[in-house]
Amino acid sequence: MDAIIISIGSELTTGQTVDTNSAWLSQRLAEAGVRVLRHVTVPDEVAPIREAFERAASEAAFVLVTGGLGPTADDLTRDALAAAMGVGLEMRAEYVERIRAFFDARGREMPEANRVQALFPAGSEPIENTCGTAPGIRARLGEATVFVMPGVPREMWVMYERDVRPVLASHTGGACMLAATLYCFGAGESDIGEVIRDLMARGRNPAVGTTAKQGVIGVRVHAWGDRRDDASAKLEATVAELRGRLGSLIYGRDDDRVAAAVAELLKAAGRTVATAESCTGGLIAKELTDIAGSSAYFREGLVTYANEAKTRLLGIPTEVLAKCGAVSIEVAEAMAVACRQFAGTDYALSVTGIAGPTGGTAHKPVGLVYIGLADTAGCRVTEHRFGEFLARDEIRERACRTALNRLRLRLLGAN
Ligand code: AMP
Ligand code: MG
Repeated sequence: MDAIIISIGSELTTGQTVDTNSAWLSQRLAEAGVRVLRHVTVPDEVAPIREAFERAASEAAFVLVTGGLGPTADDLTRDALAAAMGVGLEMRAEYVERIRAFFDARGREMPEANRVQALFPAGSEPIENTCGTAPGIRARLGEATVFVMPGVPREMWVMYERDVRPVLASHTGGACMLAATLYCFGAGESDIGEVIRDLMARGRNPAVGTTAKQGVIGVRVHAWGDRRDDASAKLEATVAELRGRLGSLIYGRDDDRVAAAVAELLKAAGRTVATAESCTGGLIAKELTDIAGSSAYFREGLVTYANEAKTRLLGIPTEVLAKCGAVSIEVAEAMAVACRQFAGTDYALSVTGIAGPTGGTAHKPVGLVYIGLADTAGCRVTEHRFGEFLARDEIRERACRTALNRLRLRLLGAN
């Protein structure tokens, strides 16, 4: 079963709005076992829209369309569909009433312009819009079934789920694609690719692929099956195989936040953490407190940016700062140890480094970061060189994620 997705709007072809509808629909169609042949994007002009309709209908069983159903002069999807079907537009009085009722419910008078939203190509069927004024359209065009939905993403989502998905499901006989992503940190994409090379073979079901972003490697798994439980069994078998091979490199499934994994482990162990940050400026504390219920494990976070603050808030001797420099093993260690002591927590993380783009030297280049992790056993500092080619925010994020990952591994007993 094949589909083509058409997005309509000059704001899309001029790049002012990013076409998220096609991506969303493609994911849903894949889940429903429908193969997407192509995405087509056309401006708000009758001729290109009509041409896109005709071509798509000659190649795919289903054509899913979004956009151009608004009440203004540039909304031409209805006209173009009618032209492609070789029919005229008909006013459906009951839809004028529905649109009027939508405005009534909001205490507003229906603008005259909205009447055009009750026009449908002769022989087509309206699809009710429960969250906006523009009804959708279901029509036959040649051998294809065409679904036209509003461009407003939320209205489109609801209409797809309610009126389009069931029709597709009845044609695919329950075929299904399920996906999962395992997030890894601490090894490069090529190293991971080496370990799972055979699972990444082309044409395999489930298919396995990797993506890399900010040091995080996402291992994506797509499993197809004739039925949902069949796809699910295949998916879980490959996920288990990946877990076996990648072990503690994997920190999350379908959630790319290392902090979420840390939060789970801290809660399970009934442990607490505090942070003392310099170059990350509170990012670690933010990540940890982004998670609902963080008061169970997060006590406090200090941003000791200036040397004076490191001395006043953490008691780091000025001589140590002068002798070793703020970016040093000694200062990272002193920060973590003092932070843990003052906060009375089980763990404390500290970060001090050079985020750049200025401030680097030959001896201490931009991207040099020390991360301290203190617990009952003492404190260990690790040195990281994230590289001068990274931007300031990338270095800060990398440092934050690395620090959280050290705590995660410690909680797993893996370092
Ligand atoms: P329309 O149905 O063409 O009047 O679209 C209404 C609004 O929905 C537009 O102004 C856009 O902000 C948004 N929109 C339309 N098409 C898309 C799309 N393909 N992806 C994301 N947003 C869209
Ligand atoms: Mg539009």
